[in-house]
Amino acid sequence: MSKAIQAIRGMNDCLPGDTNKWQMVEDVLRRVAANYGYAEIRMPVVESTNLFKRGIGEVTDIVEKEMYTFDDRNGDSLTLRPEGTASCVRAGNQHGLLYNQEQRLWYMGPMFRHERPQKGRYRQFHQFGIESFGIASPDIDAEVILLSARLWRELGISEHVTLELNSLGSNQARAEYRDALVAFLEQHQEQLDEDSKRRMYSNPLRVLDSKNAQVQALLANAPRLSEHLDADSARHFEQLCQRLDAAGVQYRVNERLVRGLDYYNRTVFEWVTDSLGAQGTVCAGGRYDGLVEQLGGKATPAVGFALGIERLVLMLTELDRLNNIRATVDAYIVMSGEQAEITGVALAEQWRDKVKDIRIQCHCGGGKFNKQLKRADKSGARVAIILGDNEVEQQQVTIKYLRENKEQQTVAFNDVAALLEELV
Ligand code: ATP
Ligand code: MG
Repeated sequence: MSKAIQAIRGMNDCLPGDTNKWQMVEDVLRRVAANYGYAEIRMPVVESTNLFKRGIGEVTDIVEKEMYTFDDRNGDSLTLRPEGTASCVRAGNQHGLLYNQEQRLWYMGPMFRHERPQKGRYRQFHQFGIESFGIASPDIDAEVILLSARLWRELGISEHVTLELNSLGSNQARAEYRDALVAFLEQHQEQLDEDSKRRMYSNPLRVLDSKNAQVQALLANAPRLSEHLDADSARHFEQLCQRLDAAGVQYRVNERLVRGLDYYNRTVFEWVTDSLGAQGTVCAGGRYDGLVEQLGGKATPAVGFALGIERLVLMLTELDRLNNIRATVDAYIVMSGEQAEITGVALAEQWRDKVKDIRIQCHCGGGKFNKQLKRADKSGARVAIILGDNEVEQQQVTIKYLRENKEQQTVAFNDVAALLEELV
C-alpha cells in the first residue's frame, strides 16, 4: 500500500461535525454585518507580493517572516494573502469604490501565514473583516466597535471578552513619539532582549508589546504615547470614548497597544479573552487613514477590524456554546420492501417541493428494518418516516420520534408535509 498523503501542517480540514458549528458562527457574522448596512466584498486569495510589502509594511512580522510568497510561471512574485485589508483597499481603488464615497464592506475567507502552528494559530486560518471607508469622524470608529460588541452578544460570549483601546495619534505625532521612544531605548539598551534591540530602529513601537518581562518593566518609565498625541487625535479619541460610554460598551485604555501592522493611525483596538491561553486576541482593528493613498488611491479615511474565526469557534466550544446546533438531517425515511422504496423516493421529492427548508435523508441500499432505524438515529434526524409495503397500500406512513418522548403515529401521505413544516 502506498503512503497516504497528509494535509500541510497548520492547514486544517473542517470536517462535517465541525462545519455546522462554523456555519452557525458565519451566519451570525453575516447577519450582524447586515444589521449595520455592510455589503460583502470578495477578493482573490492571491495578490502581488508588493501589495502586502507596501500595505502592511516591510518591517512587520507578517512581511518579514510569515508570507507564503512564490514566483508565478511568468516570474511575477505572488503571495497568498496574509490578511484582508490591503486586498480590500486594492480592490476599492481598482474599481473606483473609494474616492469621495462612503463604503461599508465586509469579507470572510482564508488567510495564510507561515507561523508555528499551535492552538489558535494556524498557517491557513479564516478571518471575518469589516472595512469602512470615507468617514473621518469618530462615529464610524464607534460603529465598527459597536458592531463587534454585538457579535459577542449574539454569540453569547460578551462576558468572556474585553475591549482594549488606544490612540496612536496622527502620523506626525507618532513619528515624534517614535523619536522620543528610540532615545529612551538607546539609553537602556543593556536591558533590551535581542528582538527589541532589532526592532528599536526598524519598528520601535513594536517594542511596546514585547512579551519579555524585563523589557516590560523597563517600559514603565518610557515616554508615553498619550503625552505626544496631537490635539485633533486626542479630541477624536475622547469623542470615540464618549460614544462608547453612551452605548454602554466597556473598555480599558491600554497605552501599550500599538498593533503589529504599519498602516494604523489614531484608533487601535483589540478584543481579548483569557479563555484561549496564549492566543488571546480574538479580534483586532483600528483606523488606517493613510493606506488608501499609500496604495495608489486618493486619500480616504478608513477604519476596520478582523477577527479570527478559528479562535471564535475554539472559544465557543470551550464555553460549551455550540451544543444546540441543529443536526444535518430533520427526517430520515426508512423503507422496507420494493414498492416502499420506489414510493418513498417519490414522496420525499414531493415533500422537499412543499417544505422548502426541510432536510430529508432517504435510506439507500435496502437492508433490515432495525438496521435502517439505527441509521436514522445516527443521522441526527428528529423523526424517522417509516414506509413498508403495507403503508404504501394504505397511503400512510408511520412517524417515529427519535429525540423526544412522544408516541409514534400514523399520518396520511397528504398530511406529512404539514408535520415536516414543524421540524424546520
Ligand atoms: P497575533 O498577535 O495573535 O499573532 P495578529 O496581531 O497577528 O495576532 P491580526 O493580523 O490583527 O493578528 O489578525 C486579526 C485576528 O486574526 C487575530 O486577532 C486572530 O484572531 C486572527 N489570527 C491572526 N493570525 C492567526 C493565525 N495564524 N491563526 C489563527 N488566527 C489568527
Ligand atoms: Mg501574528
